[in-house]
Amino acid sequence: MEVCAALPLVNDPHEVLRTVFGLRGFRGRQEEVIGHVMAGGDAIVLMPTGGGKSLCYQLPALCRAGLGIIVSPLIALMRNQVAAMRQLGVNAAALNSAIGAEERARIWDDLRAGRLDLLYVAPERLMMPEFLEALARRPVSLIAIDEAHCVSQWGHDFRREYLQLAELRAWFPGVPRIALTATADVQSREEIRQRLALDDARMFLASFDRPNIRYNITPKASPLRQLLAFLKNHEGESGIVYCLSRNAVEETAAALNSHGIRALPYHARLDAETRARNQDAFLADDGPVLVATIAFGMGIDKPDVRFVVHMDLPGSLEAYYQETGRAGRDGAPAETLLLYGMQDLMLRRKMITDGEAPDEVKRVELGKMEALLGVCETAGCRRQAILACFGETMAAPCGNCDSCITPAETWDATIPARKALSAMLRTGQNFGVGHLVDVLLGVETDKVTRFGHDQLPTFGVGKELDRKGWQSLFRQLAARGMVATDHDHYGALVMTEAGRPILRGAVEVHLRRDARVRTARRADRAFAAGGASALFEVLREVRARISREQKVPAYVIFHDATLAAIAEARPASLAALAEVPGIGRSKLERYGETILAALAQAPA
Ligand code: ADP
Ligand code: ZN
Repeated sequence: MEVCAALPLVNDPHEVLRTVFGLRGFRGRQEEVIGHVMAGGDAIVLMPTGGGKSLCYQLPALCRAGLGIIVSPLIALMRNQVAAMRQLGVNAAALNSAIGAEERARIWDDLRAGRLDLLYVAPERLMMPEFLEALARRPVSLIAIDEAHCVSQWGHDFRREYLQLAELRAWFPGVPRIALTATADVQSREEIRQRLALDDARMFLASFDRPNIRYNITPKASPLRQLLAFLKNHEGESGIVYCLSRNAVEETAAALNSHGIRALPYHARLDAETRARNQDAFLADDGPVLVATIAFGMGIDKPDVRFVVHMDLPGSLEAYYQETGRAGRDGAPAETLLLYGMQDLMLRRKMITDGEAPDEVKRVELGKMEALLGVCETAGCRRQAILACFGETMAAPCGNCDSCITPAETWDATIPARKALSAMLRTGQNFGVGHLVDVLLGVETDKVTRFGHDQLPTFGVGKELDRKGWQSLFRQLAARGMVATDHDHYGALVMTEAGRPILRGAVEVHLRRDARVRTARRADRAFAAGGASALFEVLREVRARISREQKVPAYVIFHDATLAAIAEARPASLAALAEVPGIGRSKLERYGETILAALAQAPA
């Protein structure tokens, strides 16, 4: 293992941005955050995934004297960030259960000698008293708390260890603390402030829009076929497919493989070794599609994930947004698909209402799920609907979602809706969708005759819609809260107060006409169009070789965008190569000659 020194201290953030990170300018609110933290202030930073949060603590940690401590919940996240930092010539290390005794000893040596720039550490380790005592004796430049929403007990990533982090204020007086998250949830913001004792922290709230992501949301009809149709537009691209259950993960991965699409499963029941292997395969340059439960994803900072599919309804709008946010971190076009069905909806509601949480929490969770349903069922722009839930107003439709690309038709469903409600009431609000549709369509099943439902006035009055049509109608009524499920009653549908005016004929109901899978055409391949593309492939080869030699993912060496910029510029000297965005001093020293040699040999 090479011996590293700390970087020489440079106070000017612009210079460090250029020479260390190889970047030309700040993005969004980065500069403000960095200025505030460098001046010693605490900060809460809310930026969407891919917004550039890491720079907000990495850079001031390098500009201020002392060790930068970064609290991170996941080993995978630490590992990749440390690898990326070391590529930049920064002496970064991670202390966690995955490292051996020898490496641990070396990290401690570096730490005591003041040679370490950044230390990544899990919260439970950081908060061990001996460890805190050792660190508190040394100069500390800042403390960053990544994935800070893990303190939120209402959220989906709650980690008990995070609650202890409030004590850091007392241990490190005067050291700026910066909490970061991509969770847009308004509620978690104040929780982060309270639970991390960040009373005086300035809040930096960026727009949560991810304009390069195209949203597609469509009812679940034949999920595998819908998935395959979507993947046709994404051949050879990197992507994640989320399923609700472990079984569904295994089945979907197997089905994809049998259709010639390389796919690997990932879920909590796989042993740690298989999980790590599948994750590493996914992180590789030409990796497989990863089919996963939500156990996978937090801390995965692969920049070139081109698609994210949800085969089932996620638990909340926040969860959906965070999971889809893993696509397109590099800013290039990315696409998402969500398939949702009545079954999912019932299951999710049941998972919440049957859960252990207090009623108050259940109400919040149900609310968050309703918000997602609203987005699913809207006939308008998805992005406008999503951002509205996060308290952001978008003046015009986005032009980059399924609703904008193929506007949804709506239809006057007032009379069918009244028939549906009447079928529910006349059967005593004791039955689920399947049976209600049988009644409406006039199907004489055993159950129908057993209960005498063939004698009802509503029997067979619903011939204007087919089964799918009725299912869609019930789903949309449920999404609008006009119909609810009675979980104490085997999921029977019951009418809510909001349904009453329909029955009275006091309001009209306009519903979205369900279309078939309406995913947009293949997004143009992000990079390397035209003449530079042969050169881009040559550079990818070079990168693949280096990444194999160093056993780090390809994107840790260079991003696609950097390779594309090199191919475009065709620099003939180190000085010219240094001008390419993404090339800092360290990468120039390490790989400059290799790249120039590859360029010189490539055909003109
Ligand atoms: P987050 O942690 O917010 O999801 P990252 O810190 O991983 O985002 O940054 C996302 C991507 O944006 C990374 O590939 C990073 O290199 C790039 N990036 C961040 N800041 C800048 C910048 N100022 N200029 C160019 N690229 C940037
Ligand atoms: Zn739109």
